Amino acid sequence: MNLDELGAPLIVYWDLNPQLPIDPQIIQRICDNLLTNRIFMLNLWDPSSYLNAGTSIILECLKNENINISLTVHHSVLNALDFTNFLPALKKILIQCDSIEQLSSITEKLQARKTNKFLTGISFVLSEQNFESIPDVLNLCIKSGINDIHFPIQRPGKNWKIFWLDPERKNLISERLRSISADQLNLTVHDPFLWKLFNPASDRNERGCQGGNTMVYISGNLDVTPCPLLPIVLGNLESTTLTAIFLSFERQQTRRQLSIPPHECEKCDELNICRGGCRGRTYVIHKTFDKRDPACTDH
Ligand code: SF4
Repeated sequence: MNLDELGAPLIVYWDLNPQLPIDPQIIQRICDNLLTNRIFMLNLWDPSSYLNAGTSIILECLKNENINISLTVHHSVLNALDFTNFLPALKKILIQCDSIEQLSSITEKLQARKTNKFLTGISFVLSEQNFESIPDVLNLCIKSGINDIHFPIQRPGKNWKIFWLDPERKNLISERLRSISADQLNLTVHDPFLWKLFNPASDRNERGCQGGNTMVYISGNLDVTPCPLLPIVLGNLESTTLTAIFLSFERQQTRRQLSIPPHECEKCDELNICRGGCRGRTYVIHKTFDKRDPACTDH
C-alpha cells in the first residue's frame, strides 16, 4: 500500500456539537460511508456533559462493524452510561480535561471504571494557559495507573487560540520531562514539534503532514476538512458524501499543496526531517502554506 497517496483515509476524526443536532438519516449515511471506505479508526469527540443523541446513534450503528472507535467524552458521562453496549467496535474511552485540578478529580472515577473490555485514558487539551502542566499530567497519570494519555490536535476557532511552544518554554518542559520515566505510558502526540519534546532522540515526521491523506476531519456542522487543524473545507456532509469527498478534485488539490514544502523552508537542512512541520498551524496563522510552521524556532 502506498501510504503517500491513499484512495481513502484510514482515520476519521468526528467532533459532535451539542448545539447542532444531526438528522439521524445523515448519520446513518455517514456511518455507511465509513464502512464502505473501510475506515480503520474513528475518533469521536463529544464534549457535552451528557452523551449527545448523535453520538449514541453513531455508536449504535457501528458497534458490530469492523471499525475501531475511540470516544472522547466529558467526565460526567462516565458513570451515566454502560459503554459495554457499544462493544466490540468501541476500543477506547478518553476523558477530556484541561487542568491538573480537573485531572485529579477524575482519576478515581477512571480507576473505578478500568476494565479489560476497552482502554480508558485521558485527552488533555493543551493551551497557552496549561502547557506547564505537561510534566505534572504525566506524573499524576503514572501515580494513578492511567496509561493512555492523548494530547489532541488543536481545533482552530473562537474558543481555541492556536498554541505552540517557544524555545524558552520548550526548554523548561523538556528539562522537567527528563526526570520522568514514561516508559509504561501510551502517549499520543500528533503535533510534530510537541512530539519531539517527548522523543528528543528520534524523528517521526518522515511522511510529513497527513491531512487529507491518511486522515480527514468531520466538524460539528458536518464540514469535512483534511484534519482538525486545517480549515480548508473539502465538502459538507449535508449535501455530499464522504466517498465523493475522498474522490474529489478538492482533496487531490489539497494533497498536492501539502506535498510541496513551504517556500520559506526550501534551503533548510532540517526539511527532510520535519517536512515543514504542521501545515495547518501555518495556514491558520499566516493564511498561506509557503511560510514556516511558527512552532519551528530552531532554524
Ligand atoms: S495540518 Fe498539522 S495537525 Fe493537521 S495533519 Fe497536517 S501536521 Fe497534522
